[in-house]
Amino acid sequence: PRALTDREVAAAAPLELKARLLANENPFGPSPAAKKAIADALDKSYQYPFALGSQLKSNIAKYEGVAIKNIIIDSGSTPLLHAAALCFTKGGKSVITGDPSYDDLPTYAEEFDGKWVKVPLTSDYKLDLDAMEAKVDANTGMVYICNPNNPTATVVDTAKLKAFCDRVSKKTMVFIDEAYIDYLPDPQGSSMISQIKAGNNIIVARTFSKLYGFAGLRLGYVIAQPDTIKLFKQYATDGFNISSTTLAGAIAAYQEKDFLAETLKKTNESKEYLYSVLKKEGYTYIPSSANFVMFPLKMDGKKFSTEMFKRSVGIRDWKINGQDWCRISIGRMDEMEAFAAAFKEIS
Ligand code: PLP
Repeated sequence: PRALTDREVAAAAPLELKARLLANENPFGPSPAAKKAIADALDKSYQYPFALGSQLKSNIAKYEGVAIKNIIIDSGSTPLLHAAALCFTKGGKSVITGDPSYDDLPTYAEEFDGKWVKVPLTSDYKLDLDAMEAKVDANTGMVYICNPNNPTATVVDTAKLKAFCDRVSKKTMVFIDEAYIDYLPDPQGSSMISQIKAGNNIIVARTFSKLYGFAGLRLGYVIAQPDTIKLFKQYATDGFNISSTTLAGAIAAYQEKDFLAETLKKTNESKEYLYSVLKKEGYTYIPSSANFVMFPLKMDGKKFSTEMFKRSVGIRDWKINGQDWCRISIGRMDEMEAFAAAFKEIS
């Protein structure tokens, strides 16, 4: 049997925890305006959500400077990651990913006969773009770039990634998963949507699950060239599987950039606190560009997780090249304090 994916491990965790720091969720959202829009939408939820999907796509198109035909929406980015796996690794083609990186798309690809080519990260835990490019061959169906990368929370240099997209998209499909891009200081400047506008045949995936706090509401989208969007439609309904409540909430949330800035501020406060706890206990960490932090453990990862869960603190453990690591999602300050108290007992 194959290893459980990041998502499957999170799904198996207990629901009631003092600190839920295991699935890179964002407890600071959704915003009050989004919640109100959702409550208001309930009254009209006997109607099909036709107009709402078009409205959201039109708002995204306007903000990003793309056409509506460049966008497909779905209930989270997961179904679009899966659709991409089916589109581009069918018949034994391979997907090239970093190692470790977000494992959902390549695991799904393997379940349907695709191949998974893993390329180790650089010594500073970033995706090794040169090594990934060097792996592209006649059997490559796609390259999957998770930026910022999960679970390391590192980013690659924007100019370097743009040049990579320019070159590699001429040989194979390039899929950029930007689930955590909203946590960067300049998301639009760091996004590869610019490369789509420049004509590259690449795919950018986005989600409302992270900075918008919509993980349970389920909303994500892909931006790509119109012909690529058409390929996705073999496996995706373009919004007809999203509830009117979620769509109405997302339309409200998308306009509230001030609330997002506030969320980012709270996330960074909790993150700074976590850094200080780790330093005080004599631990290092990988500086994070997202809402989670990886740090090397000084004990067995499974034992560490078990001890933390016993104290009602949910975290994730990883083993990379024989070294045990912990990934902590950034939560509310009370959750970070619960982590700190449990960590002091164990470490
Ligand atoms: N991509 C990355 C890198 C993720 O970490 C996650 C979830 O943790 C997803 C995609 C899936 O998110 P969703 O289906 O909620 O949009």
